[in-house]
Amino acid sequence: MSETENNWLETILLENKNFRNRISTENLPVERTPGSLAVMTCMDPRVNLQAIGIPGFSEQGEGSSAIRIIRTIGGMADERSLLIGIFLAGIREIAVLMHTDCGCCLANSKMDLITSNLEHRLSETQLQRFKENIGEPFQEKLAAWLKVFDDSHTAIKKEIAAIKSLPFMPDDIIIHGLLYTLASGSIEVVLNGYDENDPRE
Ligand SMILES: [Zn+2]
Repeated sequence: MSETENNWLETILLENKNFRNRISTENLPVERTPGSLAVMTCMDPRVNLQAIGIPGFSEQGEGSSAIRIIRTIGGMADERSLLIGIFLAGIREIAVLMHTDCGCCLANSKMDLITSNLEHRLSETQLQRFKENIGEPFQEKLAAWLKVFDDSHTAIKKEIAAIKSLPFMPDDIIIHGLLYTLASGSIEVVLNGYDENDPRE
């Protein structure tokens, strides 16, 4: 382990000590919160969920949101989270929230760099095994596996279609497609899940 990682662990433990001194345990959310809503968004820390009304925890540790949050690169679906979210937590409505300047979009033009980094960081055996797993042509198949994209609007629509075609997806699930602009904090509705489920259309 590198020194940085050791230091971070120390920081984590120190922060936890501060946290426990600051909070009152009766404020901590302990009861399960049944909820029908989930947001699927990017792991990028610049995406502020307060922009769509999901509050953070208070300094005292109070949490008031029942909305499930699934964070992956690009805000792409995680099938396990979706299955448990829908069939155990009771999720009926999902917001797919992508954002401008996404790393998943950047990756589209950086496939050479990703490939060369893989070659440098992995052992030959590891790389070989991974390449076999992904298939040939490697870079092309890797890009597809990573779901890299060059246009956010298209990516949102494609992702929602992919979620809807999952074999376990109920027909009545409502999915909205949203784009968050980092520089302005504004939300654009790319796909309105209510319209799409409107039987009159
Ligand atoms: Zn992103």
